[in-house]
Amino acid sequence: MANSFDLTNLLRDNIRKLIPYSSARDEFKGEASVLMDANENAYGSPLDRSYNRYPDPLQHQLKLKLSGIKGVPARNIFLGNGSDEAIDLLYRAFCRPGIDNVLLVPPTYGMYEVSANINDIAVKKVSLTPDFQLDLDGIAEAIDDNTRMIFLCSPNNPTGNSLRREDVETILANFGGLVVIDEAYINYSRQKTFIQELTEYSNLVVLQTLSKAWGLAGLRLGMAFASEEIIEVFNKIKPPYNVNQATQELVLKALDKLETVNAWIRETVTEREQLSEELRKLPFVLHVYPSDANFILAKTTEPRQVYEYLVNKGIIVRDRSKVELCAGCLRITVGTPDENKMLIAALKQYP
Ligand SMILES: *Cc1c(COP(=O)(O)O)cnc(C)c1O
Repeated sequence: MANSFDLTNLLRDNIRKLIPYSSARDEFKGEASVLMDANENAYGSPLDRSYNRYPDPLQHQLKLKLSGIKGVPARNIFLGNGSDEAIDLLYRAFCRPGIDNVLLVPPTYGMYEVSANINDIAVKKVSLTPDFQLDLDGIAEAIDDNTRMIFLCSPNNPTGNSLRREDVETILANFGGLVVIDEAYINYSRQKTFIQELTEYSNLVVLQTLSKAWGLAGLRLGMAFASEEIIEVFNKIKPPYNVNQATQELVLKALDKLETVNAWIRETVTEREQLSEELRKLPFVLHVYPSDANFILAKTTEPRQVYEYLVNKGIIVRDRSKVELCAGCLRITVGTPDENKMLIAALKQYP
């Protein structure tokens, strides 16, 4: 591995040559009293609030506010319809179908592979070590000339742990393609975010989302943080109005409630540790993995039976026992204190 990162080289030819769609809101950006340029309905919307106008394609207000919260300049932020949009755009911009490949480190978030399959991009896999850390030698060996991206998820889903920072830095410093770090669960982590390292590493893309700690999964707002050049690529190929007006308005309001969100994060972390302790006491629980996220991975003697027992009690957890390195494992999202008590009460009565 030798970091010979060159964004222009990495870009697909068709994307480099692309003349992007130019919307009405791209061509006229000022204030005006009569808007007759976008074929909108001038009469309004059949709702209390008006949604008859197209939203800001680049979400300027929202980015400015997020910039203040995250400490990253607005020009280094891309906003999408969930993180999944950013993942898909990365494949479409940087990977040639049928030619290039990406490197994944299972067990990890399933969407990286699904998105690769949709885009006809080959997937190379180097499993995490038994303690769910990166196998750096294996990764170095697996990378070839057509490896365009490495996806790392930290804290990792479904294992819950953070990847060792030095290992991630080793990959950033040595890999000549993009290193995508998915930080969906960073708010619950003891580890520091990588979004402050964008000036250090030109091949870094950090994904975050409002779907977890911010409690806004239904609004679909994903964030990508990267160099200005990478953000320009995202903006060039994204659907023009990829973040709708309702989401932009509601998120702007939600971002004023940082204190509420921080209180939830503290409570979730406290509950996570308590729930982990309680789970460890159960006779059919073999191991509870340490978690830096808002969920816990627990290895049990009979995952399917425990899963079905809980379903009958109206409690749904995720059976991850068929996933590589996760034999016997259930993934349990931390709930409210009441919900966590219900779960433990039910499990104490098992079978
Ligand atoms: C939940 C989750 C996301 C969030 O995806 P959105 O599309 O933003 O809701 C992203 N990455 C990982 C690893 C997740 O677990």
